Amino acid sequence: MHRTACEKVPCSIAAVKGPPITVTCDCGVIQRIPYGEACTCPSCGRRWDTAQIPVEEYEGVMRDMRRYRVQAMVLGSSIGLGVVALAVLTDRPLFPLALIAMAGWWLVYMPQWRRKVRARVRNLPTWKLRSR
Ligand SMILES: [Zn+2]
Repeated sequence: MHRTACEKVPCSIAAVKGPPITVTCDCGVIQRIPYGEACTCPSCGRRWDTAQIPVEEYEGVMRDMRRYRVQAMVLGSSIGLGVVALAVLTDRPLFPLALIAMAGWWLVYMPQWRRKVRARVRNLPTWKLRSR
């Protein structure tokens, strides 16, 4: 009996663990498996184990993703701090300025940031797994 364990993993867990590994079976079936999980091909029954991927290589990808998140957070808080600092230092109403800063952040920086992250995920290295 062949069971596809990977299909029962909730998406939220996969998201926490990082991007799933795309496994292309010898028979052509493509499955997305969270790192560290094993999965049986629903078509031919070959077993694929993503734990065969060296942890350092997968960690390298995770590190890049974390770095991107930190960059976005640092810039976001700098804008927030800048607005607060200006509000403290000047008496002028700063609402328009804060609005412009936040709009620039959401409309200019975040789309670029999302593109960069997506590009990194697309460029995941490919690993050759052995079926069992
Ligand atoms: Zn297969």
